[in-house]
Amino acid sequence: MGEPILEVKNLHVHFETHDGTAEVINGIDFTIERGETAALVGETGCGKSVTVKSIMGLLPSATIPEGEIRYKGEDVLSLSDAERHSRRGKEMSMIMQDPMTSLNPVLTVGEQMMDVLKWQGRPRLSLSKLVRDALSTGSKAEHRERAIEMLGEVEISAPERVFESYPVELSGGMRQRVLIAIALLSEPDLLIADEPGTALDVTTEAKVLDLLDELVEERDTSVLYITHDLGVAREVSDRINVMYAGEIVEQAPTADLFANPQHPYTRGLLESIPTLSTGIGDGIEGHLPDYTDPPVGCRFVERCPHAEPACYDAYPYPRQTGSDHATACHLFDGPPARERHESLAADPVDIGTAPWLVAGGDAPGDVSADGGTDQ
Ligand code: SF4
Repeated sequence: MGEPILEVKNLHVHFETHDGTAEVINGIDFTIERGETAALVGETGCGKSVTVKSIMGLLPSATIPEGEIRYKGEDVLSLSDAERHSRRGKEMSMIMQDPMTSLNPVLTVGEQMMDVLKWQGRPRLSLSKLVRDALSTGSKAEHRERAIEMLGEVEISAPERVFESYPVELSGGMRQRVLIAIALLSEPDLLIADEPGTALDVTTEAKVLDLLDELVEERDTSVLYITHDLGVAREVSDRINVMYAGEIVEQAPTADLFANPQHPYTRGLLESIPTLSTGIGDGIEGHLPDYTDPPVGCRFVERCPHAEPACYDAYPYPRQTGSDHATACHLFDGPPARERHESLAADPVDIGTAPWLVAGGDAPGDVSADGGTDQ
């Protein structure tokens, strides 16, 4: 650890819509160290998937007016399509959310895995290589062997049978394991897992997440988990980035975030986790802002129980609120947690201190001394 594998700096992502420009991602910064597992957490529509698809170069209709995405120090936004394609799949890989729609229904699992092995890291079109591959039975046999071995590694008990099966013949849990096998086939250094268990029942999701955890630890793969569930993020990640309406509102090591949640949105998410003592939480009232006309100041202002008039106009830049903890809220004092990007520069405003700090209250969600909840 210690050396970043991925650095996202002041990233802005816009889309043109009939109603104007949607400013979906608004100046986010985060870093993943080598071997680290980080989570990006927030509700549906907050920009998590747009962020990771921007990293992977899978958003041809978006514009990125500002920002940098550095993979192993290299600015991937300045690379050509062919150069990005050559890194995708081999260096960086992604597990998509829904295994049913992510797998091709008219190809067998084996055909899809063989395709990945054949094309990983290669330029998009190469007729000579196509012909050479078509004549090369040796590499086909090796690829088949490697694919079946990988299906075994994701604990599929009859890998040869699954290799010959169509996705529709498999259960949801099996399809998710196949997606994990495909994502890890090329031994990527960075794996992005976009809500990898969401389409599964709770028990199968837990098994799949445990398996994924073991596999990436064995390989020392860096992982970015995307999830709407802080409980899942606590189980799988070393570090959490809480995202709201295209901005990262709080960043901290996982145990610290659960022991000392600061941003009102993070606290609202924690209060939404069902616990044995309080049952199902109240959730957070209201909805995400319109990205074509977002608030000038804090994007959470319409839903925040602690909002003050100044929050409507003053941008709450992230400030350092602990040795490795940053929070973007005017209730907290501290030096800027990152370079104050010119487009988002703002002066601090005084709206008082967080009421739970004044009252000396506990963290929400019945957080115990070790940072766990009683859910
Ligand atoms: S800046 Fe104001 S509105 Fe935004 S989260 Fe903090 S208190 Fe709430």
